[in-house]
Amino acid sequence: MLQEQEAHAAQMERTFIAIKPDGVQRGLISEIVSRFERKGFKLVGIKIIVPPKDFAQRHYHDLKDRPFFNGLCNFLSSGPVLAMVWEGEGVIRYGRKLIGATDPQNSEPGTIRADLAVVVGRNIIHGSDGPETAKDEIKLWFKPEELVNYTSNAEKWIYGVN
Ligand code: GDP
Ligand code: MG
Repeated sequence: MLQEQEAHAAQMERTFIAIKPDGVQRGLISEIVSRFERKGFKLVGIKIIVPPKDFAQRHYHDLKDRPFFNGLCNFLSSGPVLAMVWEGEGVIRYGRKLIGATDPQNSEPGTIRADLAVVVGRNIIHGSDGPETAKDEIKLWFKPEELVNYTSNAEKWIYGVN
């Protein structure tokens, strides 16, 4: 039992997920949050903010040489963004699966972008693409004290360990 608990604890991850201004304005917050929640992932941080342009540029710094960078940063800072941190086993990689491919035209049906968006420039949601980015993005968007450590009652039913 102890081994199972340790294995479970070792596989726990956190990822940064954001509903972009288009998703917020279109009233898709509850739909998107519920997909992560129903899966069994745990919400440990959440806030709604309008990120300033220079903050958007920092968030998307790895895309600074792309032709759409300026438009993308203007867009991200154009309205409220719902910033979240989700926790769970494999949440970084599986969160990306729930979100779907970058271009909604190529996302698999059943994914968030396929079901709820049409074009790449308005694909409604962001998710960290790996462990390093997750760490950096959580640090950029949240202070440590804004993240909550708790055990959910459902956890033993989701993972089969206490
Ligand atoms: P993601 O990790 O799936 O969000 O994709 P990327 O990190 O490659 O790109 C970040 C965001 O930039 C995407 O979610 C899109 O909103 C936007 N983006 C990516 N490629 C394009 C493009 O070719 N054109 C436009 N207009 N936006 C793009
Ligand atoms: Mg990305």
